[in-house]
Amino acid sequence: MVKETGYYDILGVPPSANDSELKKAYRKLAMKYHPDKNPGKDAEEKFKQISHAYEVLSDPKKREIYDQGGEEAIKGGSSGGGFDFHSPMDIFDMFFGGRRSQRGSARRGKDVVHQMKVSLEDLYNGATRKLALQKNVICAKCEGRGGKEGAVQKCGLCRGTGMQIRIHQLGPGMVQQIQTVCAECRGEGECIDPKLRCKVCNGQKIVKERKILEVHIDKGMKDGQQIRFTGEGDQEPGLEPGDIVIVLDEKEHPEFQRKGNDLITQKELLLVEALCGFQKTVKTLDSRVLIITVLPGEVIKDRAIKCIMGEGMPIHRDPFEKGRLIIQFLVKFPDRIPPEKIVTLESCLPPREEHIIPDDADHVDLIEFDPQQEQTSSRRGEAYESDDDHPHGQRVQCASH
Ligand SMILES: [Zn+2]
Ligand SMILES: [Zn+2]
Repeated sequence: MVKETGYYDILGVPPSANDSELKKAYRKLAMKYHPDKNPGKDAEEKFKQISHAYEVLSDPKKREIYDQGGEEAIKGGSSGGGFDFHSPMDIFDMFFGGRRSQRGSARRGKDVVHQMKVSLEDLYNGATRKLALQKNVICAKCEGRGGKEGAVQKCGLCRGTGMQIRIHQLGPGMVQQIQTVCAECRGEGECIDPKLRCKVCNGQKIVKERKILEVHIDKGMKDGQQIRFTGEGDQEPGLEPGDIVIVLDEKEHPEFQRKGNDLITQKELLLVEALCGFQKTVKTLDSRVLIITVLPGEVIKDRAIKCIMGEGMPIHRDPFEKGRLIIQFLVKFPDRIPPEKIVTLESCLPPREEHIIPDDADHVDLIEFDPQQEQTSSRRGEAYESDDDHPHGQRVQCASH
Protein backbone atom coordinates (compact mmCIF):
# COMPACT_ATOMS: atom_id res chain seq x y z
CA MET A 1 0.00 0.00 0.00
CA VAL A 2 1.26 3.46 -0.83
CA LYS A 3 0.58 6.45 1.40
CA GLU A 4 -0.69 8.69 -1.36
CA THR A 5 -1.08 8.39 -5.12
CA GLY A 6 -0.63 12.02 -6.23
CA TYR A 7 2.51 11.48 -8.31
CA TYR A 8 1.03 8.34 -9.87
CA ASP A 9 -2.17 10.25 -10.69
CA ILE A 10 -0.19 13.03 -12.38
CA LEU A 11 1.37 10.45 -14.68
CA GLY A 12 -1.91 8.55 -15.02
CA VAL A 13 -0.48 5.19 -13.92
CA PRO A 14 -1.41 2.83 -11.09
CA PRO A 15 0.95 2.56 -8.09
CA SER A 16 1.89 -0.88 -9.38
CA ALA A 17 3.32 0.61 -12.60
CA ASN A 18 6.67 -0.77 -13.67
CA ASP A 19 9.60 1.13 -15.08
CA SER A 20 8.55 0.92 -18.71
CA GLU A 21 4.99 2.02 -17.93
CA LEU A 22 6.36 5.04 -16.08
CA LYS A 23 8.66 5.89 -18.98
CA LYS A 24 5.85 5.64 -21.48
CA ALA A 25 3.52 7.78 -19.39
CA TYR A 26 6.20 10.43 -18.87
CA ARG A 27 7.15 10.45 -22.53
CA LYS A 28 3.58 11.00 -23.72
CA LEU A 29 2.75 13.69 -21.18
CA ALA A 30 6.07 15.53 -21.39
CA MET A 31 5.75 15.78 -25.16
CA LYS A 32 2.15 16.94 -24.85
CA TYR A 33 2.84 19.66 -22.30
CA HIS A 34 6.31 20.73 -23.40
CA PRO A 35 6.51 24.55 -23.14
CA ASP A 36 7.87 24.72 -26.71
CA LYS A 37 4.52 23.47 -27.91
CA ASN A 38 2.32 25.09 -25.28
CA PRO A 39 3.09 28.65 -24.37
CA GLY A 40 1.35 29.71 -21.18
CA LYS A 41 1.50 29.26 -17.46
CA ASP A 42 -0.88 26.32 -17.18
CA ALA A 43 1.11 24.04 -19.44
CA GLU A 44 4.33 25.14 -17.77
CA GLU A 45 2.99 24.22 -14.35
CA LYS A 46 1.69 20.90 -15.66
CA PHE A 47 5.06 20.20 -17.31
CA LYS A 48 6.76 20.85 -13.97
CA GLN A 49 4.42 18.50 -12.10
CA ILE A 50 4.94 15.74 -14.64
CA SER A 51 8.67 16.21 -14.34
CA HIS A 52 8.66 16.12 -10.52
CA ALA A 53 6.47 13.04 -10.44
CA TYR A 54 8.67 11.24 -12.93
CA GLU A 55 11.89 12.27 -11.22
CA VAL A 56 10.70 10.74 -7.96
CA LEU A 57 9.02 7.61 -9.30
CA SER A 58 11.79 6.70 -11.75
CA ASP A 59 14.33 6.49 -8.93
CA PRO A 60 13.76 3.33 -6.86
CA LYS A 61 15.04 4.94 -3.64
CA LYS A 62 12.97 8.10 -3.99
CA ARG A 63 9.97 6.06 -5.03
CA GLU A 64 10.21 4.01 -1.86
CA ILE A 65 10.40 7.14 0.27
CA TYR A 66 7.38 8.54 -1.54
CA ASP A 67 5.37 5.33 -1.27
CA GLN A 68 5.96 5.23 2.45
CA GLY A 69 5.78 8.88 3.40
CA GLY A 70 4.13 10.69 0.51
CA GLU A 71 5.11 14.04 -0.92
CA GLU A 72 5.96 15.46 2.49
CA ALA A 73 8.65 12.83 3.01
CA ILE A 74 10.14 13.60 -0.40
CA LYS A 75 10.21 17.32 0.24
CA GLY A 76 11.68 16.74 3.67
CA GLY A 77 8.73 18.16 5.58
CA SER A 78 9.40 21.00 8.01
CA SER A 79 12.64 19.42 9.19
CA GLY A 80 14.28 19.98 5.83
CA GLY A 81 16.63 17.42 4.36
CA GLY A 82 14.49 16.88 1.30
CA PHE A 83 16.10 16.80 -2.07
CA ASP A 84 16.16 19.45 -4.77
CA PHE A 85 14.27 18.71 -7.92
CA HIS A 86 16.09 19.07 -11.20
CA SER A 87 14.71 21.60 -13.63
CA PRO A 88 11.95 20.10 -15.77
CA MET A 89 13.98 20.87 -18.89
CA ASP A 90 16.97 18.95 -17.58
CA ILE A 91 14.79 15.95 -16.86
CA PHE A 92 13.34 16.19 -20.36
CA ASP A 93 16.79 16.48 -21.97
CA MET A 94 18.13 13.58 -19.92
CA PHE A 95 15.15 11.46 -20.87
CA PHE A 96 15.57 12.12 -24.56
CA GLY A 97 19.29 11.55 -24.26
CA GLY A 98 20.80 14.84 -25.35
CA ARG A 99 24.41 14.64 -26.53
CA ARG A 100 25.58 17.43 -24.28
CA SER A 101 27.85 15.33 -22.13
CA GLN A 102 29.62 13.65 -25.02
CA ARG A 103 30.53 16.83 -26.80
CA GLY A 104 32.02 18.73 -23.96
CA SER A 105 30.92 22.26 -23.47
CA ALA A 106 30.51 23.36 -27.11
CA ARG A 107 27.50 25.64 -27.25
CA ARG A 108 24.67 23.79 -28.86
CA GLY A 109 21.16 24.61 -29.89
CA LYS A 110 18.24 22.69 -28.49
CA ASP A 111 17.21 19.26 -29.68
CA VAL A 112 13.81 19.26 -31.32
CA VAL A 113 11.68 16.26 -30.39
CA HIS A 114 8.81 15.06 -32.59
CA GLN A 115 6.49 12.17 -31.95
CA MET A 116 5.55 9.93 -34.87
CA LYS A 117 2.62 7.54 -34.81
CA VAL A 118 3.45 4.19 -36.37
CA SER A 119 1.33 1.10 -36.91
CA LEU A 120 2.33 -2.34 -35.76
CA GLU A 121 2.55 -3.29 -39.45
CA ASP A 122 5.19 -0.56 -39.95
CA LEU A 123 7.22 -1.90 -37.04
CA TYR A 124 6.86 -5.46 -38.33
CA ASN A 125 7.69 -4.82 -41.98
CA GLY A 126 9.86 -1.74 -41.67
CA ALA A 127 8.82 1.48 -43.41
CA THR A 128 10.07 4.79 -44.68
CA ARG A 129 8.11 7.86 -43.80
CA LYS A 130 8.57 11.37 -45.01
CA LEU A 131 8.24 14.03 -42.37
CA ALA A 132 7.88 17.66 -43.42
CA LEU A 133 8.94 20.28 -40.94
CA GLN A 134 9.92 23.90 -40.69
CA LYS A 135 13.31 24.75 -39.36
CA ASN A 136 15.52 27.77 -38.96
CA VAL A 137 18.61 27.80 -41.15
CA ILE A 138 21.40 30.31 -41.39
CA CYS A 139 20.67 32.77 -44.19
CA ALA A 140 22.72 31.72 -47.21
CA LYS A 141 22.72 35.19 -48.76
CA CYS A 142 24.47 36.96 -45.88
CA GLU A 143 26.01 33.81 -44.37
CA GLY A 144 24.40 34.61 -41.05
CA ARG A 145 25.83 38.09 -40.70
CA GLY A 146 22.51 39.87 -41.27
CA GLY A 147 23.92 42.25 -43.87
CA LYS A 148 26.69 42.92 -46.35
CA GLU A 149 30.18 42.36 -45.11
CA GLY A 150 31.18 45.29 -42.92
CA ALA A 151 27.55 46.27 -42.41
CA VAL A 152 27.50 44.88 -38.93
CA GLN A 153 28.90 47.27 -36.38
CA LYS A 154 29.43 46.88 -32.73
CA CYS A 155 26.61 48.70 -30.99
CA GLY A 156 27.80 52.17 -30.00
CA LEU A 157 25.48 52.49 -27.07
CA CYS A 158 26.40 49.36 -25.14
CA ARG A 159 29.81 48.80 -26.76
CA GLY A 160 28.77 45.31 -27.81
CA THR A 161 27.73 43.99 -24.43
CA GLY A 162 24.03 44.14 -25.20
CA MET A 163 23.42 45.55 -21.72
CA GLN A 164 23.05 49.12 -20.57
CA ILE A 165 23.82 50.26 -17.09
CA ARG A 166 21.90 53.25 -15.92
CA ILE A 167 22.84 55.12 -12.83
CA HIS A 168 19.96 56.42 -10.88
CA GLN A 169 20.55 59.08 -8.29
CA LEU A 170 18.33 58.37 -5.31
CA GLY A 171 19.66 61.09 -3.08
CA PRO A 172 22.89 62.69 -2.03
CA GLY A 173 25.58 60.02 -2.12
CA MET A 174 23.03 57.32 -2.93
CA VAL A 175 23.00 55.80 -6.38
CA GLN A 176 21.27 52.80 -7.78
CA GLN A 177 22.63 50.88 -10.73
CA ILE A 178 20.04 49.44 -13.02
CA GLN A 179 21.04 46.99 -15.71
CA THR A 180 18.74 46.80 -18.71
CA VAL A 181 18.78 45.29 -22.15
CA CYS A 182 20.30 47.75 -24.58
CA ALA A 183 17.53 49.73 -26.27
CA GLU A 184 19.56 50.38 -29.40
CA CYS A 185 20.49 46.82 -30.35
CA ARG A 186 17.90 44.97 -28.21
CA GLY A 187 20.65 43.00 -26.51
CA GLU A 188 22.31 41.81 -29.70
CA GLY A 189 25.44 43.90 -29.09
CA GLU A 190 25.59 44.88 -32.74
CA CYS A 191 23.76 47.07 -35.17
CA ILE A 192 23.25 46.70 -38.87
CA ASP A 193 23.14 49.74 -41.09
CA PRO A 194 19.56 49.63 -42.44
CA LYS A 195 20.80 50.40 -45.96
CA LEU A 196 23.13 47.38 -45.94
CA ARG A 197 20.76 45.01 -44.17
CA CYS A 198 20.30 41.62 -45.85
CA LYS A 199 17.11 41.62 -47.91
CA VAL A 200 16.61 37.86 -47.69
CA CYS A 201 16.53 37.50 -43.92
CA ASN A 202 15.78 41.14 -43.16
CA GLY A 203 18.82 41.22 -40.90
CA GLN A 204 17.56 38.27 -38.83
CA LYS A 205 20.52 36.06 -39.93
CA ILE A 206 18.24 33.05 -40.15
CA VAL A 207 15.43 32.08 -42.48
CA LYS A 208 12.70 29.48 -42.18
CA GLU A 209 13.12 26.49 -44.42
CA ARG A 210 10.82 23.61 -45.19
CA LYS A 211 12.68 20.40 -44.72
CA ILE A 212 11.65 16.87 -45.62
CA LEU A 213 13.18 14.21 -43.44
CA GLU A 214 13.14 10.58 -44.49
CA VAL A 215 12.56 8.51 -41.42
CA HIS A 216 13.55 4.87 -41.75
CA ILE A 217 11.68 2.61 -39.41
CA ASP A 218 13.60 -0.62 -39.07
CA LYS A 219 11.91 -3.97 -38.63
CA GLY A 220 11.39 -4.69 -34.97
CA MET A 221 11.70 -1.14 -33.65
CA LYS A 222 9.77 -0.50 -30.50
CA ASP A 223 7.33 2.01 -29.08
CA GLY A 224 9.30 4.93 -27.64
CA GLN A 225 12.42 4.20 -29.67
CA GLN A 226 14.24 7.28 -30.92
CA ILE A 227 15.56 8.03 -34.36
CA ARG A 228 18.06 10.86 -34.18
CA PHE A 229 19.03 13.23 -36.99
CA THR A 230 22.28 14.68 -35.78
CA GLY A 231 22.71 18.40 -36.35
CA GLU A 232 19.34 18.79 -38.09
CA GLY A 233 17.83 21.01 -35.40
CA ASP A 234 17.38 24.76 -35.75
CA GLN A 235 20.48 26.66 -36.84
CA GLU A 236 21.58 29.80 -35.07
CA PRO A 237 24.73 31.85 -35.70
CA GLY A 238 27.49 30.88 -33.29
CA LEU A 239 25.74 27.75 -32.08
CA GLU A 240 26.24 24.17 -33.06
CA PRO A 241 22.77 23.02 -34.17
CA GLY A 242 20.93 20.51 -31.99
CA ASP A 243 19.40 17.29 -33.26
CA ILE A 244 15.97 16.38 -34.49
CA VAL A 245 14.74 13.43 -32.49
CA ILE A 246 11.85 11.34 -33.76
CA VAL A 247 10.16 9.28 -31.08
CA LEU A 248 8.08 6.35 -32.31
CA ASP A 249 4.60 6.04 -30.89
CA GLU A 250 3.05 2.63 -31.56
CA LYS A 251 -0.64 2.73 -32.44
CA GLU A 252 -2.96 0.17 -30.96
CA HIS A 253 -3.72 -2.73 -33.27
CA PRO A 254 -7.20 -4.21 -33.50
CA GLU A 255 -5.96 -7.79 -33.46
CA PHE A 256 -2.46 -8.03 -32.11
CA GLN A 257 -0.96 -6.84 -28.92
CA ARG A 258 2.78 -6.60 -28.65
CA LYS A 259 4.75 -7.65 -25.63
CA GLY A 260 8.48 -7.36 -26.21
CA ASN A 261 9.14 -9.57 -29.22
CA ASP A 262 5.95 -11.55 -28.78
CA LEU A 263 2.62 -10.88 -30.43
CA ILE A 264 -0.54 -11.80 -28.60
CA THR A 265 -3.91 -12.41 -30.22
CA GLN A 266 -7.22 -13.98 -29.24
CA LYS A 267 -9.30 -16.44 -31.25
CA GLU A 268 -12.87 -17.39 -30.62
CA LEU A 269 -13.73 -21.09 -30.82
CA LEU A 270 -17.14 -22.66 -30.95
CA LEU A 271 -17.68 -25.37 -28.38
CA VAL A 272 -17.78 -27.97 -31.14
CA GLU A 273 -14.34 -26.79 -32.33
CA ALA A 274 -12.94 -26.77 -28.83
CA LEU A 275 -14.12 -30.36 -28.27
CA CYS A 276 -13.74 -31.93 -31.69
CA GLY A 277 -10.71 -30.23 -33.23
CA PHE A 278 -10.54 -27.51 -35.88
CA GLN A 279 -8.53 -25.76 -38.51
CA LYS A 280 -8.33 -21.96 -38.47
CA THR A 281 -6.35 -19.22 -40.15
CA VAL A 282 -4.39 -16.31 -38.74
CA LYS A 283 -3.41 -13.40 -40.94
CA THR A 284 0.07 -12.13 -40.13
CA LEU A 285 1.18 -8.49 -40.10
CA ASP A 286 2.82 -9.04 -43.50
CA SER A 287 -0.46 -10.45 -44.85
CA ARG A 288 0.54 -14.10 -45.00
CA VAL A 289 -2.06 -16.63 -43.92
CA LEU A 290 -1.09 -19.22 -41.33
CA ILE A 291 -3.14 -22.35 -40.80
CA ILE A 292 -3.42 -23.68 -37.28
CA THR A 293 -4.77 -27.16 -36.67
CA VAL A 294 -5.93 -28.98 -33.59
CA LEU A 295 -6.57 -32.63 -34.31
CA PRO A 296 -9.70 -34.44 -33.13
CA GLY A 297 -9.04 -35.90 -29.71
CA GLU A 298 -7.41 -32.84 -28.22
CA VAL A 299 -9.67 -30.56 -26.21
CA ILE A 300 -8.98 -26.82 -26.06
CA LYS A 301 -10.17 -25.33 -22.83
CA ASP A 302 -11.56 -21.81 -22.52
CA ARG A 303 -8.72 -19.26 -22.20
CA ALA A 304 -6.11 -21.88 -23.09
CA ILE A 305 -2.92 -20.37 -24.52
CA LYS A 306 -0.81 -21.80 -27.29
CA CYS A 307 1.97 -20.29 -29.32
CA ILE A 308 3.72 -20.45 -32.67
CA MET A 309 7.48 -20.00 -32.58
CA GLY A 310 9.01 -17.52 -34.99
CA GLU A 311 5.80 -15.73 -35.91
CA GLY A 312 6.07 -12.88 -33.43
CA MET A 313 7.76 -9.51 -33.97
CA PRO A 314 11.07 -9.40 -35.82
CA ILE A 315 13.99 -8.63 -33.54
CA HIS A 316 15.52 -5.21 -34.15
CA ARG A 317 18.85 -5.47 -36.04
CA ASP A 318 18.31 -9.24 -36.37
CA PRO A 319 15.03 -9.27 -38.29
CA PHE A 320 15.19 -12.87 -39.48
CA GLU A 321 14.77 -13.87 -35.87
CA LYS A 322 11.27 -13.40 -34.57
CA GLY A 323 9.45 -13.76 -31.26
CA ARG A 324 6.43 -15.92 -30.61
CA LEU A 325 2.85 -15.57 -31.78
CA ILE A 326 0.77 -16.29 -28.70
CA ILE A 327 -2.85 -17.28 -29.23
CA GLN A 328 -5.42 -17.37 -26.49
CA PHE A 329 -8.59 -19.30 -27.26
CA LEU A 330 -11.95 -18.07 -26.06
CA VAL A 331 -14.53 -20.83 -26.18
CA LYS A 332 -18.06 -19.77 -27.04
CA PHE A 333 -20.57 -21.99 -25.33
CA PRO A 334 -24.04 -22.57 -26.79
CA ASP A 335 -26.90 -20.94 -24.84
CA ARG A 336 -29.02 -24.09 -24.78
CA ILE A 337 -28.89 -27.70 -25.83
CA PRO A 338 -32.11 -29.43 -26.94
CA PRO A 339 -33.04 -31.75 -24.03
CA GLU A 340 -33.67 -34.69 -26.38
CA LYS A 341 -30.02 -34.55 -27.47
CA ILE A 342 -28.66 -34.71 -23.94
CA VAL A 343 -28.46 -38.47 -23.80
CA THR A 344 -26.41 -38.63 -26.97
CA LEU A 345 -24.16 -35.83 -25.80
CA GLU A 346 -23.70 -37.32 -22.39
CA SER A 347 -22.65 -40.63 -23.86
CA CYS A 348 -19.63 -38.89 -25.40
CA LEU A 349 -18.49 -37.16 -22.24
CA PRO A 350 -16.63 -38.51 -19.21
CA PRO A 351 -19.22 -39.92 -16.77
CA ARG A 352 -20.62 -37.82 -13.96
CA GLU A 353 -19.28 -38.15 -10.46
CA GLU A 354 -21.73 -39.27 -7.83
CA HIS A 355 -22.60 -36.95 -4.96
CA ILE A 356 -24.02 -38.05 -1.67
CA ILE A 357 -26.79 -35.66 -0.65
CA PRO A 358 -27.69 -35.59 3.06
CA ASP A 359 -31.42 -35.99 3.90
CA ASP A 360 -31.73 -32.60 5.59
CA ALA A 361 -30.25 -30.63 2.68
CA ASP A 362 -32.36 -27.68 1.48
CA HIS A 363 -33.52 -27.16 -2.06
CA VAL A 364 -32.74 -23.64 -3.22
CA ASP A 365 -33.19 -21.76 -6.46
CA LEU A 366 -30.40 -20.76 -8.73
CA ILE A 367 -31.15 -17.51 -10.51
CA GLU A 368 -29.23 -15.22 -12.84
CA PHE A 369 -26.72 -13.15 -10.96
CA ASP A 370 -27.34 -9.41 -11.06
CA PRO A 371 -24.57 -7.35 -9.48
CA GLN A 372 -26.95 -4.38 -9.08
CA GLN A 373 -29.39 -6.33 -6.96
CA GLU A 374 -29.42 -5.72 -3.23
CA GLN A 375 -27.26 -8.34 -1.61
CA THR A 376 -29.23 -8.67 1.60
CA SER A 377 -32.70 -9.39 0.20
CA SER A 378 -32.24 -13.12 -0.41
CA ARG A 379 -30.53 -13.57 2.94
CA ARG A 380 -33.47 -12.06 4.77
CA GLY A 381 -35.72 -14.47 2.89
CA GLU A 382 -33.74 -17.43 4.10
CA ALA A 383 -34.00 -16.35 7.70
CA TYR A 384 -37.79 -16.36 7.48
CA GLU A 385 -37.77 -19.68 5.76
CA SER A 386 -36.13 -21.58 8.57
CA ASP A 387 -39.48 -21.40 10.43
CA ASP A 388 -41.56 -22.00 7.37
CA ASP A 389 -43.25 -25.24 6.52
CA HIS A 390 -43.41 -24.51 2.83
CA PRO A 391 -39.95 -23.28 2.07
CA HIS A 392 -40.10 -23.82 -1.64
CA GLY A 393 -42.98 -21.51 -2.51
CA GLN A 394 -41.63 -18.81 -0.23
CA ARG A 395 -38.21 -18.92 -1.80
CA VAL A 396 -39.44 -18.49 -5.30
CA GLN A 397 -41.22 -15.33 -4.24
CA CYS A 398 -38.12 -13.89 -2.55
CA ALA A 399 -35.81 -14.74 -5.32
CA SER A 400 -37.89 -12.97 -7.91
CA HIS A 401 -37.57 -9.62 -6.10
ZN1 LIG B 1 20.60 37.25 -44.71
ZN1 LIG C 1 23.60 47.89 -27.79
